[in-house]
Amino acid sequence: MGPSELRALVRDVPDYPKKGVIFKDVTPVLADPRALASLVEMIAAPFRESGVTSVVGIEARGFTLATPVALALGVGFAPFRKPGKLPYRTYSEEYQLEYGADSLQAHVDAIRPGERVLIVDDVVATGGTAGAAVRLVRNFGAEVAGLGAFIELEFLNGRAALPGIDIHTIVAYA
Ligand code: AMP
Repeated sequence: MGPSELRALVRDVPDYPKKGVIFKDVTPVLADPRALASLVEMIAAPFRESGVTSVVGIEARGFTLATPVALALGVGFAPFRKPGKLPYRTYSEEYQLEYGADSLQAHVDAIRPGERVLIVDDVVATGGTAGAAVRLVRNFGAEVAGLGAFIELEFLNGRAALPGIDIHTIVAYA
């Protein structure tokens, strides 16, 4: 399947989780075995020659794509989670939301210094979440090999918040 067929499977849910937001629901894509296989391959492909040693997934929908992408690249997976979800000792990185702040946490042994890490999520919107993931990776003394995502909401200009990051997305909404 190509990007336009994947795009046709994305379900727009208006006013979720709050009024004015059109939520991009990727569950119909995950449910279709041909779509899922194509999507995982398309996210992994640009990074096959990038020397990736680990794939990070951002909670929670990012996990569903990051783990098969890690398999496709022949490397392991590490979760970056919302506060209080990981059982072992963690490092944290905060990021700003429209109102207030949130943070991402990683286990202290999730990444080794010198690794080349691919960050994967389902949607890049303002880039705030991915930006926190970038800082968290760098705090380990590791490099960011890139950011791979299914959907990019171009009108929120996430790329501007992620300078110098090699970003590949499959479907963009202008
Ligand atoms: P941001 O930090 O603004 O780039 O938001 C990205 C995070 O929020 C990702 O983890 C997405 O899963 C989620 N997200 C933001 N906007 C949407 C949307 N319209 N539909 C689905 N997920 C979204």
